[in-house]
Formats: sequence, C-alpha cells, structure tokens
Amino acid sequence: MQIKSSYDVVVVGGGPSGCMAAIEVAKAGYSVCILEKDRDIGMPVRCGEAIGNEGLTQFFKPKREWIATEITAAELIAPNGKNIKVPFVHETGFILNRRIFDYDVSRIAVKNGAEVYTKSFVKSLIIDDETNFVKGVVVKYFDKEVRISSKIVIGADGVESRVGRWGGIKTTVKIKDMESCLQYSVANINLNKNQMKMYVGKEYAPGGYLWIFPKGDGFANIGIGISGKYSKHKSAKKYLDDFIDREYPDVSILSTVCGGVSCPKPHKEPINNGLILVGDAAHQINPMTGGGIASGMRGGQIGGQIVALSLKNKDYSKIFLSKYPEKMFKIFGNNHNRYYRIKEAIHHLEDEDFNYIANKVANIPENKRGLSDVFKAAVFKKPSLMIDVLKVFVGV
Ligand code: FAD
Repeated sequence: MQIKSSYDVVVVGGGPSGCMAAIEVAKAGYSVCILEKDRDIGMPVRCGEAIGNEGLTQFFKPKREWIATEITAAELIAPNGKNIKVPFVHETGFILNRRIFDYDVSRIAVKNGAEVYTKSFVKSLIIDDETNFVKGVVVKYFDKEVRISSKIVIGADGVESRVGRWGGIKTTVKIKDMESCLQYSVANINLNKNQMKMYVGKEYAPGGYLWIFPKGDGFANIGIGISGKYSKHKSAKKYLDDFIDREYPDVSILSTVCGGVSCPKPHKEPINNGLILVGDAAHQINPMTGGGIASGMRGGQIGGQIVALSLKNKDYSKIFLSKYPEKMFKIFGNNHNRYYRIKEAIHHLEDEDFNYIANKVANIPENKRGLSDVFKAAVFKKPSLMIDVLKVFVGV
C-alpha cells in the first residue's frame, strides 16, 4: 500500500491515543492515516505498563496476551520502611504487555478502515499562509519526502510533541511539572505477582515515587519518577541504582527506559484551526500517578469523535474544535486538575507525615483497608486536600 497525497485526517504518532482517535474517525467513514516514526508500533516500550481494570475495559474486552499480570493489591512502603498492604476492593488493575497491546490497538484502527505507516517521520505541518489553517503534513517516509494534505491533523506525538508547537499551540511544561523517570525491566526477581509496590519519601524518590510492577515469572518493571526540582541534586538513575543494589542485587536488567513524563494540568486549548492534540501531547496524563495510557486513549477517543463531527459539519475551525476540550474536561480533565492539586499538596508532605499516614492505615484491619483510607489519613495531615480528595474519590 502507498501513502496517498490526501486524507480527511492525518494522525501523527501511532501510540494508543493516536490509534483511538483514528478508530473514531474511521468508524465515522472518513479517510485517515496514522504516521509513526519508529519502525514498529508499540516499540520501544516507554512505560511501566500499569492500567486500572476500568481504564482498559471501558474500551475493549482485554485479550489474554495483553495482560502480564492482574494486580489485586498495593504494598505502600513508607520512608521508615513500614510496609502497608492495601487490597484493591473496588477496582483491580493490570500490568500490560504493551508491545502486544499497542500493536493490537493499531490493528483495531486498521480493521475500522485506518491506514498505518511506520518509518514515517513527520517533519513539519503545512499551514495556509492566508487563513492560518493547518492543511496537512510533510513526512519523511523511508528516504522520500511526501506532502500529505488533510482537513484536520491530530497530533498524538507523545510527551516530546512538536506538532503542537509547529501549529501555534503553546505546549511548554514548567520544570517542576516534569518528572524525571527511569525504568528497568528486570529478570530474576522473586515477587508476589499480584501485588505492586510503591515506595515514597525523600530517600526513595523525592517529589515522586518508586514503583515495582510485577509481570510474573521472575520478571518486573522497576522504575522511579522524581520531580525535576530534585533531579539536579541526585539523578533518578542514582536513586534507582542505589535502591536495586540494596534491595534486589541479583536482578539482571533486560531493558532500560529513561525520559521525562510531563505531569502538569491538562492543556486547556489543545486545538487550533485544523489541528488538535491528544494524549501525552495534550498533557492528558494523570498528574498524580504519571499514568497516561487510559486517559490518553480517552482523550484520543473524544478528540476523534469531535473531529468526525467537524468533518460532517465541514467546519474545521478552532471554534468548532473547542467542543473537544470542553467534553474532555467534563469527562476527566477537571478530575486531573484536582489530582494536580493533590499532587502539589503531597509534594509538601515530609517523611514524618508519610510515616504518620502509614501508621494510621496500619491500624485498620487489612480486610477493611482501601486506598481511600490512605487519602483520608493524608487529609488529616493536610486538611487543604479535603475538597479535592472528596471530589475525586467520593465524587461529591
Ligand atoms: P506515546 O505512547 O508516546 O505515542 C506517541 C508516538 O508518536 C510514539 O510512538 C512516537 O514514536 C510517535 N512520534 C513522535 N513524534 C513523531 C513524529 N514527528 N512523526 C511520527 N511519529 C512520531 N502510563 C500508564 O498509564 N501506566 C504506567 O505504568 C506508565 N508508566 C510509565 C513509565 C515511564 C518510564 C514513562 C516514560 C511513562 C509511563 N507512562 C505510564 C505514561 C504512558 O507511557 C503514556 O502516557 C502513554 O504512552 C501516552 O500515549 P500516547 O499515545 O499519547 O503517546
């Protein structure tokens, strides 16, 4: 199959957010192509691969091959080493095999009528000088430069997105909202495969957390995210290496991922004339957890639906496309703003506060404990968290 010179919609980036957007556009009967710079969809994996049950099942019935393990509890480790097990009563989670998952989501897009091209590096946008509307992209496809015209471009080019900037959308993130992340996928580790571990406190991960997500069979993702504010004093790598030397000196590291995860509030206006951004490119990651698979997919889905509507109405203007952020904020963006405020408050907690929270939760019998108890204890230490915690966790 050859790339055509014109589509209704061009999606830049073949991650889960871009593919979800393409599915919606294709389902509505419009022509759409997904351009991915790498030679494989879903590779390299730059992710801890954790997702909530509902986060995944709201889109698809999970295939067995997508799931490495099901997670039914978290172990939270306080700075004083106290280990609190919190069972997931209402919602379990999964550790995905994203190599397979991402691939399959792109296959679903193709089944619905989208075209996918790998080794397709988008170099710039085509912008009409007179109207200022985005009219397509210039792509380096193998060794050829191809101009593709479109009615709308969807920028789904991830955390390092350049499409937004090219199209006049300000996407710069403050350093304090950039988490510096490093993750190793390790073998030869003995873990309960249904329990994830999270370590907090200044010694483990200042302004962030350190995670162990088991994948079963002696395999796990061990990673760390620390606020950009702290990483200049001691790097994320040094924190993680010190931890592994101390706790799991016998593991072998099979793959390494490093990079920034931007954890600001969702972008208020990820749109311009003939252009929308979705997923990480639009800052749709949960700012508290750094998880962006499910919310990016939801952002992509909502964005794709509004793009289909704008094609139906033959109106590709920023004004029409503003229906997309409006809907996105109603569905999850307002909650992400609350998560952002909770994150800010958590960053101001001292190690003694985390120890206090751990002790308080430890006093609740294990079979009666839930994540909300952790946050209730946190509210006791930081009363300013009250309203956001209630809205997010109780939905009032
Ligand atoms: P991506 O998955 O990044 O896809 C963007 C795609 O665009 C890429 O394939 C890229 O190659 C392509 N692209 C970029 N520029 C161009 C261009 N010019 N032309 C063509 N293609 C281009 N989230 C969770 O939910 N759970 C986790 O456990 C988790 N752990 C994480 C751990 C780490 C270390 C990191 C870094 C992130 C983690 N995340 C996690 C975040 C999660 O990976 C992202 O939120 C998610 O992948 C966003 O999907 P996306 O489709 O928006 O972007």
